[in-house]
Amino acid sequence: MHITQALHRAVQQAPDLPATVFGERTRTWAECADRVARLAAALRALGVASGDRVGILALNSDRYHEYLLAVPWADAVLNPANVRWSAAEIAYSLADSGTRVLLVDDAFAPMLPALRAAHPELATVIHCGDGPTPAGVLAYEDLVAAHEPVEDAFRGGASLAGVFYTGGTTGSPKGVMLSHDNMIISALGTAANGSFMTPGGRTLHAAPMFHLADLAAWTARSLLGGTHVIVPAFDPTAVAAAVETHRTEDALLVPVMIQVLADSPVVQAADLSSMRRVLYGASPISEAVLDRAAKVMPTAEFTQAYGMTELSPVATLLDPADHAHPVRRRSAGRAAPHALVRIVDADDVEVPRGTVGEVVVRGDHVMLGYWNRPEETATALRGGWMHTGDGAYMDEDGYVFVVDRLKDMIVSGGENVYSAEVENALARHPAVASCAVIGVPDDEWGERVHAVVVLQPGAETSAEELREHTKTLIAGYKSPRSVEFVDALPVSGAGKILKRELRARYWADADRQVH
Ligand code: ATP
Ligand code: MG
Repeated sequence: MHITQALHRAVQQAPDLPATVFGERTRTWAECADRVARLAAALRALGVASGDRVGILALNSDRYHEYLLAVPWADAVLNPANVRWSAAEIAYSLADSGTRVLLVDDAFAPMLPALRAAHPELATVIHCGDGPTPAGVLAYEDLVAAHEPVEDAFRGGASLAGVFYTGGTTGSPKGVMLSHDNMIISALGTAANGSFMTPGGRTLHAAPMFHLADLAAWTARSLLGGTHVIVPAFDPTAVAAAVETHRTEDALLVPVMIQVLADSPVVQAADLSSMRRVLYGASPISEAVLDRAAKVMPTAEFTQAYGMTELSPVATLLDPADHAHPVRRRSAGRAAPHALVRIVDADDVEVPRGTVGEVVVRGDHVMLGYWNRPEETATALRGGWMHTGDGAYMDEDGYVFVVDRLKDMIVSGGENVYSAEVENALARHPAVASCAVIGVPDDEWGERVHAVVVLQPGAETSAEELREHTKTLIAGYKSPRSVEFVDALPVSGAGKILKRELRARYWADADRQVH
């Protein structure tokens, strides 16, 4: 299959249905196909050859959607940049992936001089914002208007569709090579589960479109037909307005966004009754946040996905019905229809149910490999299984309970402490808005369980009270020995808490391996 297949179907079946709604601008699938075929022609005219990477550094927009289709239409390779990266990190990813053509919007145009200086091979820049086009940069709409539509290259299947950089949560980001089939199989498997998306619906894109999580929802919505309602960036007011105005039915949200929505007075007062389904994932969620989310979106069914960029990205799904189960709701669900999931020990031998090991995954959604990193590819894919680096156990019915990233695991006084369990306990205290639990150096215990906590506005509590609270829920040795209160936690562009930044304050050498 190929990513553009969805576009051809949509034009055939519903040419006048809106493909994208972005602010005041709505474009039908027929318009979208025409513009995509013209943009693909422009890319070809600019010298983009089969397999060349074409980057984008932009907030979400309808043109982002067109980019995602025009690049494969021209048989080129997607390379979306993480919008939270610094100019140096973006230049690194452009140089690493050998990207010479880049789309950039108004928000990121000011970064161009720095990018050009650090990556002189950047030959062509296309401005895809609505503001004035900077000097020395091509205007997106001029290119679309100046070129006649070309035929779709129709090359999909196992060929390279994109180089997607991992979140950089644990270290320097790696370029993940995904084929058309990789992405489509993950999206179809997720849709086949039945709990996320119905054909012809309206999907809200508030999570960043560069990240595989939202891209998975984009692929599924495109394949199922329907409309993409796009907001430039996550913001509770913009989300509430988009849902109310366009009556969106589903969305992909990451846990940090769900927490912000659930605690936002604007969202609490808004009419979100059109929302039927929310897919969330990409990092752990606490039960307390889930409960609060159900209150602001009472009409929505929640499905959790666990996965990673390397898995295009979905591996397991927790169905809405399981959210009502007292134990299963703490899991990340079971292997999705397209995935095989096992829990193994350090020798890659499957461990008994209930025992913590590493999650390994197999299936046609597993990446082709890491861009330019053959050794890391071989290690990650050894034995034909993708080694996720995530610690989890599986119960008798196949539910996977993710306990921690193996790198984040805390060893205190010889006991393993998994941060997810401690965070979940802390989050159940009403004063806690969000939290992160890390291991910090301790002379006596090797590592000590340390909590970094953001309180609800106006709420008060003490370290001692929080410790006593967690002790009523989890064993004493897991309860945080120290608690630090902060205004906000550092998060990545994909909305993940950057524990390495929190840890770096305590471990003199930030790169030192904690374990
Ligand atoms: P990097 O690999 O560069 O450190 P990253 O791992 O954050 O970044 P992604 O591919 O975006 O980059 O994230 C995948 C990781 O996110 C998984 O390995 C897992 O640790 C975490 N994750 C994803 N979904 C869930 C979930 N439902 N529950 C818990 N953790 C999750
Ligand atoms: Mg990772």
